[in-house]
Amino acid sequence: MSIKKVGVIGAGQMGGGIAHVAALTGYDVVLMDAQDAALEKGLKTIEKNLSRQAEKEKIKADDVPATLKRITTTSTLQDMADCDIVIEAATENESIKQKIFTELDGLLKPSGIIASNTSSISITRLAAVTKRPEKFIGMHFMNPVPIMKLVEIINGIATDDATFKATKEMAEKMGKITAVADDMPGFIVNRILMPMINEAIYTLQDGVADVESIDTAMMLGTAQPMGPLTLADFIGLDTCLAIMRVLHNELGDSKYRPCPLLVKYVAAGWLGRKTGKGFYDYSGEKPKPTK
Ligand code: NAD
Repeated sequence: MSIKKVGVIGAGQMGGGIAHVAALTGYDVVLMDAQDAALEKGLKTIEKNLSRQAEKEKIKADDVPATLKRITTTSTLQDMADCDIVIEAATENESIKQKIFTELDGLLKPSGIIASNTSSISITRLAAVTKRPEKFIGMHFMNPVPIMKLVEIINGIATDDATFKATKEMAEKMGKITAVADDMPGFIVNRILMPMINEAIYTLQDGVADVESIDTAMMLGTAQPMGPLTLADFIGLDTCLAIMRVLHNELGDSKYRPCPLLVKYVAAGWLGRKTGKGFYDYSGEKPKPTK
C-alpha cells in the first residue's frame, strides 16, 4: 500500500501541524476545514512555523515554498476522494466526527485509509459508522506536531494488518516514533496525562496553591518542561474537558470526574492559548495568571 496523497480534516492546531509535517515529508496534502477563517489561519501558521524552522536551519530555505506548494486547501470533503489516507483532526466531539466519517466513507476511493487523530474517542466505535472498519485506524499525533516525536497508533477491533503497517510506515517516514496502544479510553498518553492535569485544576480549585506555584512546583519538582496548567492551556481546555468526560463515562470510575473549575473555564469560553485566555492571559508580552 503506497501513500502519496494525504487528506487532513480540520485546520486547527493539530490538523495544521499534521499538514505541515506531511507536506514537508513530500506528500501532497489536501487540507480541509468547515470554516474558511480556520483554513486561512492554519495556512498562515504553517508558513510561519516553516519559516522559523528554516531560520533555525532545521530545514532548507527552499523547503518553505516547496512545502507550501504541496498543500492545497478546501472546504469540501469531495476534494479528498482520491487520497490514499485521510487523517481527521476536527474538534473532539463524537457526533461531529461520526458525521465526517459517514460522508467521507461514501466518497473516498475504496483503497483509502481513514485515520482519526482523536485523543480519546473509541476507534472501534468511530470505525463502525463506516463500511471500511478494516481500513480505519487511530493515528494520535502530539501537539505541536512539527516538534513532538510521538505518534500513538491505535487499532480498532477490525483494523487489518495492511492498514496498520501502512500507517506506521507513514508515521515513521514523517520522522515520528510510534507507540502502539490498545483501543481503550485515552489510549496511553491521555489516560495518564489528563488525570494529572485535572488534579492540578483541583489543586487550584481547592486553594492549595496559585496557578504559578502549581506550574513551578510540577516543573521543578518533577522535571517537566512546562507545568500542567500551562500545558492545559496549550492543549485547549475544551479538549481537556472532552477527554476527561470520555474517561469518566467510559471507565466509570469517579477518579476521572472532570474538575468543576475546568467546566467553568470552558463555559466562559476561556479555552487557553487558542482563545487568548485560559489559566493564563496571553494578551501581554508574558502570560499572566487569570486568577
Ligand atoms: P482545534 O479546535 O484547534 O481545531 C479543530 C478544527 O476542526 C477547527 O478548525 C474547526 O473549524 C474544525 N472543524 C470542526 N468541525 C469540522 C467539520 N465538520 N469539518 C471540518 N472541520 C471541522 O482542535 P485541535 O486541538 O486541533 O484538535 C483536533 C483533534 O486533535 C481533536 O480530536 C483533539 O482531541 C485531537 N488532539 C488534540 C491535541 C491537542 O493537544 N490539542 C493533541 C492530540 C490530539
